[in-house]
Amino acid sequence: PIYFDYAATTPVHPAVLNDMLPYFTEDFGNAGSNQHYYGWVAEEAIQKSRASIAKYFNLPASSILFTSGATESNNLGIQGFLSGRKPGHMITSTLEHKAVLAVCQHMESLGWSVTYVTPNEAGIIDVEDVKAAIQSDTVLISLMLVNNELGTITDYEAIRALADAHQLIFHADATQAIGKIDLQGKDLPHLMSVSGHKVYGPKGIGALIVQPGVQIQPLVFGGDQERGMRSGTLAVPQIVGLAASFQLIPELLSHAQTLAEYKSRIEKAIPAHWKLNVSRASTVPHILSISLPETDWETLFQSIPNVAISNGAACNAKTHLPSHVLKSIGLSDAEALATLRISMGLGTTSQDVDFLISYLHEKLN
Ligand code: PLP
Repeated sequence: PIYFDYAATTPVHPAVLNDMLPYFTEDFGNAGSNQHYYGWVAEEAIQKSRASIAKYFNLPASSILFTSGATESNNLGIQGFLSGRKPGHMITSTLEHKAVLAVCQHMESLGWSVTYVTPNEAGIIDVEDVKAAIQSDTVLISLMLVNNELGTITDYEAIRALADAHQLIFHADATQAIGKIDLQGKDLPHLMSVSGHKVYGPKGIGALIVQPGVQIQPLVFGGDQERGMRSGTLAVPQIVGLAASFQLIPELLSHAQTLAEYKSRIEKAIPAHWKLNVSRASTVPHILSISLPETDWETLFQSIPNVAISNGAACNAKTHLPSHVLKSIGLSDAEALATLRISMGLGTTSQDVDFLISYLHEKLN
């Protein structure tokens, strides 16, 4: 099948793989072995990787904490910031990935109260609604930068300004934003979760990017790696791969033009009775969400075996429940289930797009 699920995951880019390979074999040392050559080589690779990611965000190297991916980074950002504090209040949204919502629910079980701000029908969180949710005991706002099902973009600079004005910390799940929106030179969230496998890097690696001065508590204890914030032997090949994938960001950003053109071709070609779930404004070019009214979702997905398209978040896919994200922008259960999330990337060709359009017409119209 032709792959239209780049928002679920991406293939490792050959340049990334190439950078990683020596660290699986000849340069296999433990970065913590500081008595010998093998350890030094591994440690040097970690330092270089950390420095290059930090440089992209114009931050000191100590701002980058390596984790196993965005799920862990969200846990470390939210739980790590809240733990040890007297339970108070935090703000998030109904648009968030499970990897944020489930953490918030866990914090509720520990006595925290959480406001779940709802998006407008365009799938955007309104800064005024976030402002209105602030209470005297609010300490944290957690909002994603780009939604993984709709592609909608949060006005993160306005949220950062709001957080600063109220002396709050702003955590953002930036998993789907890296390489999609230009974050350089911007006022970034205080805590930011990123993942390798959405940007042509390996799976199982990510980072929490911590602005200087923001204090968090560790969740994983052990050998004091990552300055005690995340113990465990560092995954050298994956970390090298994460840094290499971040080197692709300029190329990914310039590719956006091509994807925007593909997206508009698909949008223009869909039959009138299919529903585009969000309008173009404030969305990234590579994600498209379309609902097919009156269609049974099982039949829908069984009818299109030659294209790899998902219904929503891959991480929810096993449950076959209607997406909470689609429901929060007003879709019924049936509409949410009969939704195609089409997502494109570096490997998508113009011919793939033509095929997709005619295939969907032939099979579903
Ligand atoms: N957050 C968002 C918005 C995502 O799209 C994903 C992807 O699955 C995740 C978090 C989870 O990331 P990871 O697979 O790195 O844990």
